Amino acid sequence: MDRIVLKVGSAILVENQQINTQRIESLAKIISTLREKYEVILVSSGAVATGYTELKLDKSFLENKQALAAIGQPLLMQKYSEIFKKYNILTAQMLVSWHDFDSRKHTKNAQNTIEVLLKNNILPIINENDVTAIGELLKLGFGDNDQLSAYVAHYFNASLLVILSDIDGYYNKNPKLNKDAKKYKIVNKIEKHELESEATPNNEFATGGIVTKLKAANFLLENNRAMFLANGDKLEVLSEFLLNNNHIDGTLFKRD
Ligand code: ADP
Repeated sequence: MDRIVLKVGSAILVENQQINTQRIESLAKIISTLREKYEVILVSSGAVATGYTELKLDKSFLENKQALAAIGQPLLMQKYSEIFKKYNILTAQMLVSWHDFDSRKHTKNAQNTIEVLLKNNILPIINENDVTAIGELLKLGFGDNDQLSAYVAHYFNASLLVILSDIDGYYNKNPKLNKDAKKYKIVNKIEKHELESEATPNNEFATGGIVTKLKAANFLLENNRAMFLANGDKLEVLSEFLLNNNHIDGTLFKRD
């Protein structure tokens, strides 16, 4: 069975400073179908936003963000667990940091865990360990889980990473600001200047913007894996692509 990693960002999970439960419902539905054909690993952001629904700490301080993540992560997992239960899917939480992929021993331990979970039909839900891994929260590390999910895909041996965001794909310029922006359907190579442009996340809980997604894609291309960037609000694009081999929308990053 092919293995895929699905990453959902804050842009899709958070609406009006709340976790959008409806979106998790739709996600659960499609994941339950995808699991008939693929082994699925989910990477989810949203811990800080979930924490913020319970306690309004000032998010401009790093320690507050970390505290919000500590509050929010179990609540977010609880939400996932309840919703996936309706589809008879048991979920598991894995918190990782980039150090885990820096050390062969840690990587091996994490790989062993993933194999056991998948073999037992459990859905692993991965997030960066925000409380200690200041990387994501400082915008220096994985960047809203985009790069983390690329590592997850590579080290856990998935053939494809799917990033679900609030845009239809990768454009030649920011489509939120430019009406004439053109979408790329397939990208084989990412140029250096594209990796160096400024981060432009679209909501206050997002940290990545397009640049961290391009960095994720670049890492995967270098390792001969693929990435598909699509709109998390149009899940039919994803099911067409993954179940019917029909590329109707979204950007596929793939080597020639
Ligand atoms: P997420 O929380 O899903 O990671 P982000 O808000 O961090 O999402 O990143 C997605 C945003 O990146 C889009 O909403 C868009 O405003 C912005 N963006 C900037 N430049 C581009 C581009 N060239 N193509 C697509 N999106 C872009």
